[in-house]
Amino acid sequence: MTTARALRGVLAGLLAALLAAGLAVPAAALPEDDDATTEEVVAQRALTSSRPLLGWRIALDPGHNGGNADDLAAANQPVSDGRDALKPCNSTGTQTVTGYPEYAFTLDVAKRLRDDLERLGATVLLTREDDDGVGPCVDVRGRFAEDVDADLLISIHANGTASPSAEGFFAIVASPAISASQGVPSIDLAEAMIEALDDAGFTPSTTVEGALSERADLATLNFARRPAVMLELGEMRNPDESELMESGEGREAYAEAILHGVLAWTDKHDQHGE
Ligand code: ZN
Repeated sequence: MTTARALRGVLAGLLAALLAAGLAVPAAALPEDDDATTEEVVAQRALTSSRPLLGWRIALDPGHNGGNADDLAAANQPVSDGRDALKPCNSTGTQTVTGYPEYAFTLDVAKRLRDDLERLGATVLLTREDDDGVGPCVDVRGRFAEDVDADLLISIHANGTASPSAEGFFAIVASPAISASQGVPSIDLAEAMIEALDDAGFTPSTTVEGALSERADLATLNFARRPAVMLELGEMRNPDESELMESGEGREAYAEAILHGVLAWTDKHDQHGE
């Protein structure tokens, strides 16, 4: 992230704070990116200490949607998978044994995560805001990060292995890489997420080695042109994990773990001057 970009974020935050306080801000109060005064730099430092994600733009993709099952004609429309095959626009997703759907889980975690990220200064963009529609299609979800100029994309899912003994979270990245953001940058992001989920006490997948899966067939990841990871946060048919997923506290814990992963990853990339 560049300094100019960080400063833009700071100014946007200041502007929002002033607006929230009911103060008018003349356009002339917003300087050009490259001529920040010392005061502004100091203000930036003061703000970033409590809002470490200021200036970062984070795209969240809650998997699936509530309307997919009721409009299979639309949901099954073929779209490119981002390589040389076709995929259905968007699948219905899975559910727990009691019928709690993946699309509701992913949206709730994404919204909790958005609140957490925004509290720390990030700008957060979601591929969908409710459970009422069909899609967006997986190609659109993948392009989303670049379309909204996000720094990274986190696609949130839960897995639906039929056996209740299947357990654990894993992260997926596109492989082989077909863009600069795939390969190492995305694997790096995935590893930050795996470590954060592990540290938070969630169980790494018992079937995916290292909890990291590399796949060529996921359009959401193939189309991404920013570091992107898909998280399968757990197995919805596993009794312990489904209990977590069905509880607000459990979903908050998932969101917090992902937040910690974002903090670790952004901290590392800030130090590298990206
Ligand atoms: Zn899914």
